[in-house]
Amino acid sequence: MALPADYHMHTPLCHHAKGEPWELASHAVSQGLCEIGFSEHNPMIRDDWDDWHMVHEDLGLYVANVEKARQEFPELQIRLALETDFIPGHESWVRQLRQEADFDYFIGSVHYISDTFDIDNPNKKDQWENGDVDAIWEAYFERLAQAASSGLYDIIGHADLCKKFNYRPSKDPSAWYQHFLKAARDHDVAIEINTAGLRKDCQEMYPCPALLEMAHRMGVALTFGSDAHAPNEVGADFQAAVALAKQAGYTHWRRHERGSHQAVAL
Ligand SMILES: [Zn+2]
Ligand SMILES: [Zn+2]
Repeated sequence: MALPADYHMHTPLCHHAKGEPWELASHAVSQGLCEIGFSEHNPMIRDDWDDWHMVHEDLGLYVANVEKARQEFPELQIRLALETDFIPGHESWVRQLRQEADFDYFIGSVHYISDTFDIDNPNKKDQWENGDVDAIWEAYFERLAQAASSGLYDIIGHADLCKKFNYRPSKDPSAWYQHFLKAARDHDVAIEINTAGLRKDCQEMYPCPALLEMAHRMGVALTFGSDAHAPNEVGADFQAAVALAKQAGYTHWRRHERGSHQAVAL
């Protein structure tokens, strides 16, 4: 079977990734992928929000660069998307962004659990060290459920990102998973298997098998993403990701095109 699409990839416009879209596309072809999607970190409500999102002024360049990759690699289906931070109060901004180009899908991600704590930022580890890990996990999944319910997104990114640095809760997280997954199912939002977790301290894909199995039981759809921040990461560990999906019971992934979607056999 053909590999599923890699729907989570970044470009240099976020200031912490390398490889232009056509370079990532070239690597995708070499990996045997038939479909990819660019999901750059969205322009934030203010360009000085932080230093790891694209600035609003670059959105047109981003779209043009993805278009250039499409022209160079006509054999590859290339989707245009954004990975968009969910922050309460920013909803109308995200809705506005969606109108600014012909996007195929939006990934909704929670990195920030408050305006100043992006939980996956290595420079914010002191907030983990000095904080209550259970409370951080709970706040993370609460915000993730809000993201899934917001109507802004097609896919939720790296659903248990809070494990990245291996700060683990003392409680069983199942109730938090269930709360989030119910919101995803009720709003027809997919989750992704994101292989980047294998390259982090947690050394495990996002999400963990328990969350993925629960997602399958509850009827939540699935996409795949490498979260590539460099060309050689495109399609990384996709065979293992497909095996993980099948172990969890999945038989299909979900293709996204211009805001609509269809199931494709794994
Ligand atoms: Zn990034
Ligand atoms: Zn992310």
